[in-house]
Amino acid sequence: MPDLLRKLHHHPATGWLARAAGLPDPVELSRAAGPTGAQPLTGRRTAIRAAEGGYAADVLTACAVGAGGVIDPQASAIDILIFDATGCRAPADYAALYDTFHAAASRIAVNGRVLLVAAPPDATPDPVAAAAARGIEGFGRSLGKELGKTGIAVNLAYVAADALDRLDGPVRFFCGARSTYVSGQAVRLSTTAIGGDTASAGLSGKVAVVTGSARGIGLAAAQRLVEEGATVVCVDVPAASQALHDSCRAIGATALVLDIAAADAPVRLTQCLRERGGADIVVHNAGITRDRTLARMARQDWELVVDVNFRAIVAIDEALLAGQVLRDGGRVICLSSISGVSGNFGQSNYAASKAALIGYVAARGAQLGPRGITVNAVAPGFIETPMTQRMPFVPRELGRRLNSLKQGGQPRDVAELIAFLATPGSVGITGNTIRVCGQALIGA
Ligand code: NAD
Repeated sequence: MPDLLRKLHHHPATGWLARAAGLPDPVELSRAAGPTGAQPLTGRRTAIRAAEGGYAADVLTACAVGAGGVIDPQASAIDILIFDATGCRAPADYAALYDTFHAAASRIAVNGRVLLVAAPPDATPDPVAAAAARGIEGFGRSLGKELGKTGIAVNLAYVAADALDRLDGPVRFFCGARSTYVSGQAVRLSTTAIGGDTASAGLSGKVAVVTGSARGIGLAAAQRLVEEGATVVCVDVPAASQALHDSCRAIGATALVLDIAAADAPVRLTQCLRERGGADIVVHNAGITRDRTLARMARQDWELVVDVNFRAIVAIDEALLAGQVLRDGGRVICLSSISGVSGNFGQSNYAASKAALIGYVAARGAQLGPRGITVNAVAPGFIETPMTQRMPFVPRELGRRLNSLKQGGQPRDVAELIAFLATPGSVGITGNTIRVCGQALIGA
């Protein structure tokens, strides 16, 4: 469905009114289709800049060029600007940020990308260097808010000198067309999860399960994983059985009708995946809301939300791990929410369960790193799905607009991040929670 504000702005009868009222005119965001190619930055005009004394620029250049980016110092416009800020260790080093972005900001094309790379603040004993590294986050988030109206996404990767070999996948994702609705994020790359395979390999030969995938984000995620070559099992409740089977037929996945909160769900899922030789990718997408202020919330609604969104996920993972069904090098991805990051009025049950997942992935990621398994959370903002279509008009319109891109995201945008986190190239990212929210003001 065309965006309401864009329609108002671009219709001859209403354009003047939309402009006079100062309504935002959301830019048309570019999105990629089909499987990720070997060179996702093909033809994209790329500039690499660095603060003096940094350690990442050479690797970043190699990653960008290897992914198809074109380094052309003469180009007047830039599609991708990568800035190595690992040399920023003191206030004086910030001059490089000003000099680079003051000159380049207006040259970054619509739907462009900025990737900042900084040293992890906790990797240095020097308080000033730690502060200088952490400050890059505030800079990047501000830049994202300034450039978002033209669809430019600005993200940051913290990387230590011993984890530079983990940069390839993140460069491909955060500088490519698939990070459309991911902006203002700071990811931490580490060597926590072992694994040398950081190439841009797809998912052929991998077995994935996606819960809650009869529709919405889950269905989009399942479709992306199928496109990347994975064998996908889609799970949904008995009430959604027809939709689940229809969806699976459409995308070429296998249906498993199962309520993830049922007592026998961990055993049944384990059995199903064992029959397929084990699982490589587990996407805990199924989730529910039962919104009410706490004083008016029935105990049953509190318990149901905690049960589906939190307890069931942990129970399934424990069964998969105990049954040795989750293979080494696996990927676990939990759907959190920006409500879990910031809390939300009338969502104390939902926010508690989604915040619990943020803590869960951090702890589980550290635990499973020695097996090369990464565990991360994806926190969507306002995504156009049946869940958000049910919201009343005013909060829906506010939720949709209060972000740097002035529009809601598509299920596919969340699916892109899930698919990236499922690939071998994301091995440096574990225990992270990454928002797909167009840099929503909520929880910013
Ligand atoms: P949706 O309501 O459109 O789809 C959820 C699917 O999960 C449905 O098919 C539903 O039948 C299934 N499901 C629910 N309970 C289940 C259970 N017990 N067992 C198996 N399947 C079950 O939701 P969505 O908008 O696509 O959201 C997907 C995930 O993303 C959820 O975890 C949600 O909390 C999270 N999220 C969504 C948004 C958004 O804006 N849509 C924002 C933040 C977080």
